[in-house]
Amino acid sequence: MTQSTPAHPGPAVANMSLGGGYAPDLNNAITNYNNQPLTFDMRRTTGSTAGCNATITARVSGGTGGSSGFPSGGRPFGTINIGSGLQSATFPTATVTHVITHELGHTIGFRHSDFFDRSISCGGSPVNEGDGGVGAILVPGTPSGATVGGSVMNSCFRSVEPGVFTATDGTALRALYGPSRPTIDFPIAFQANTTVLWVVGPGGPGPTGLGMMPGTSPSITKLATGGYEVAFQANTGRLWVTGTAGTADTGLGMMVGTSPSITGLAGGGFEVAFQANTSRLWVTGTAGTADTGLGMMVGTSPSIAGLAGGGFEAAFQANTTRLWVTGTAGTADTGLGMAAGTSPSMAARPGGGFNLVFQANTTSLWTAGSTGTGDLGLGMAVRTSPSTN
Ligand SMILES: [Zn+2]
Repeated sequence: MTQSTPAHPGPAVANMSLGGGYAPDLNNAITNYNNQPLTFDMRRTTGSTAGCNATITARVSGGTGGSSGFPSGGRPFGTINIGSGLQSATFPTATVTHVITHELGHTIGFRHSDFFDRSISCGGSPVNEGDGGVGAILVPGTPSGATVGGSVMNSCFRSVEPGVFTATDGTALRALYGPSRPTIDFPIAFQANTTVLWVVGPGGPGPTGLGMMPGTSPSITKLATGGYEVAFQANTGRLWVTGTAGTADTGLGMMVGTSPSITGLAGGGFEVAFQANTSRLWVTGTAGTADTGLGMMVGTSPSIAGLAGGGFEAAFQANTTRLWVTGTAGTADTGLGMAAGTSPSMAARPGGGFNLVFQANTTSLWTAGSTGTGDLGLGMAVRTSPSTN
């Protein structure tokens, strides 16, 4: 979808009436807009315009199409014209709804999605509308091309249309008129509701196109040399990494229902700790790949931290239910019992050493890092894990 001119960010309320028996179609078109999370609402009225900061008058005109105009001065165009010829048995209500939705789209700044070649939706010889006197700006996240049925804003409509916005129409509406979002100056990785790994924030591509295993979570770390790297359990059950340092299927199988932990290393590069499909703790990355030979508890995940002086240390719940650590700083059974179904969290200290916290088998929060070991006397919820930094 393309827009004509940069849209104003403030709320706008349109006020419309339309005679000639088009009321249900106009209501449906208004609902199309109000179903989107936008910073304005449209309201239909034949009376008072109180509370409205703009008015769009809907008129019945000749012909079987529609027409309207583009916004100016921070306000929508004030008129849409809907052809009386649409009011026939030829056109279902959804098609008329489509045309009204389309004309309203022009009033708030949308140009034809196939403006560069109207024949895509109209047929016949290619016709380029050019800048249309207002310019054409591709809305980020929407296709630069056009297809039949791809957008409510195609130049020509079919005799039967669904009468609702397409997914990319919604993207365009939210880009121009959606609520503002917090600024992110740090990287975030997550499994989207499509099961695809997303990375947002500086340098993040958004959708990576990489499928994740349901029920697992990615881990992300900043790299000493700049950028970020993500580790995750792919939908193949294998450990993958992606980010500034490259994308790779490590070929290493992970245990069902567990998630990896990644950390940046002091000299650059990264290291990942994960529960392998053998139920043993593995590490892999710049500092090397190794089966530690240490058995992990079912359904738990390790935590790893790159140490300030180089190297790394990982913590995990062993298959004895006890907290273990392993890595450059040494391997040890701490002898401390962990609560069922929980995982420890560790983080490097700037001056060396690490912080380490976990839920003890007493359900109390414990610390076991470089500053000492002890019960903090704080009760934790069942089957939850703490997080530290
Ligand atoms: Zn149009």
